[in-house]
Amino acid sequence: MKTCLIVDDSKVIRKVARHILETLEFSVEEAGDGREALERCEAAMPDVVLLDWNMPVMSGMEFLKLLRQRGHSDQPKVVFCTTENDMAHIRAALEAGADEYVMKPFDRETLHIKLQLVGVA
Ligand SMILES: [Mg+2]
Repeated sequence: MKTCLIVDDSKVIRKVARHILETLEFSVEEAGDGREALERCEAAMPDVVLLDWNMPVMSGMEFLKLLRQRGHSDQPKVVFCTTENDMAHIRAALEAGADEYVMKPFDRETLHIKLQLVGVA
């Protein structure tokens, strides 16, 4: 079973994403901000991270940069979730090491396609 860490400060988004991911047979963990996500990754690296952009404490971008800097050999795939329909944001995320991005709100079909694109589904 593949593992997915959902990182989002919205409990509702985490709940919706968890439901979708469980129907896709992922084992799911959750984090409410970037710092909590880093701690979870240090404890057990997931196969894929579904990452929100705007969060308190530590943003998705800060998390991503730190995660990639640490240079673990078992780096997870990262799918950035954004409401920013803005190529500059998307380009910055991909340059920082994101593998794919998905616009919120996403449905099961869209998320499944993105997870297939990064090779975890
Ligand atoms: Mg947010």
